[in-house]
Amino acid sequence: MDRPMKRRSLALGTALVALAAASTVPATARADDPPMVLATIAMIANVADTVVGDCAVVDLMMGPGIDPHLYQASASDVQAFQQADVILYSGYALEGQLGEVLAAMEGRKPTVAVSPTAISPAELISVQDLYGIDPHLWMDASLWGQIAPVIAETVGEVAPDCAGDMADRAAAYQDQLAALHDWITASIASIPDSQRILVTAHDAFAYYGRAYGIEVAGIQGISTESEAGVADIRDMVDVVVDRSVPAVFIESTINPRTIQAVIDAAAQRGQQVEIGGELYSDAMGEAGTAGGTYIGMLYENTITIVDALGGTRAPLPDILVPWAETWDIDLAAN
Ligand SMILES: [Zn+2]
Repeated sequence: MDRPMKRRSLALGTALVALAAASTVPATARADDPPMVLATIAMIANVADTVVGDCAVVDLMMGPGIDPHLYQASASDVQAFQQADVILYSGYALEGQLGEVLAAMEGRKPTVAVSPTAISPAELISVQDLYGIDPHLWMDASLWGQIAPVIAETVGEVAPDCAGDMADRAAAYQDQLAALHDWITASIASIPDSQRILVTAHDAFAYYGRAYGIEVAGIQGISTESEAGVADIRDMVDVVVDRSVPAVFIESTINPRTIQAVIDAAAQRGQQVEIGGELYSDAMGEAGTAGGTYIGMLYENTITIVDALGGTRAPLPDILVPWAETWDIDLAAN
């Protein structure tokens, strides 16, 4: 049934790639303008913003609520790719529909897949599907911190005068993320053993689970490109009922109906399950909110999980207090 639709979007994609390849517009309009860095996802854009400071302007392609697995480039996106001086994307097929457009940009300007560039193969989680590697690396703060020096180095190619400052900021930011990592570990450890299981709509939390010691179970696979089936939902209901899971979680980029189906089916089998809250999985919150920062994404996810599963929040480390104060976060609640 979906054949004609697929063919049409494929044709559009091919046209956009041709458009991208045909352009001869110079990347930088004026030499005294700060370079433009274009990031596909907010988890990269916010780290880049922190690292580059005033040395560059960072633009984000996919805003809050956008699912990168499904995202297709529009004509204005292609224009943004053309105008950028540096392109940063995640890689490992996260931006599955952008592959050809990104390939067309390589060789024309610094175009870097930050995950494969920054993170060593030994630290990756392999998966048995078309992806091969689970791309959701931002769920582990210490791993994702490794993209900061890569960004400093990449932007340093177009802003060499700033390279030293950017390297310093990248190192300082990595220190903050190391403290965040420890705080998440301590907070998750407070959840009672039997309830330390994270049930979500899709498999975005494997790195989070490995890093912070919580079992994870997603109804759908790594990508959201195929829909969850009846068997996927039934399997998850078995887990929820067998383990007496008190809460399951919805994701900001994914329709909550599969999670609701699990809750309804569990109720029919006598197991009351609550929605523990909404987690950021593949996108962050609105700009200008705590959840619109990378630190805030993991912070808010963690307090949502800890509160719903019966844990207690660990005291926030001193190095993160300035961040918390920026966003009026009540430290007494930690
Ligand atoms: Zn995902």
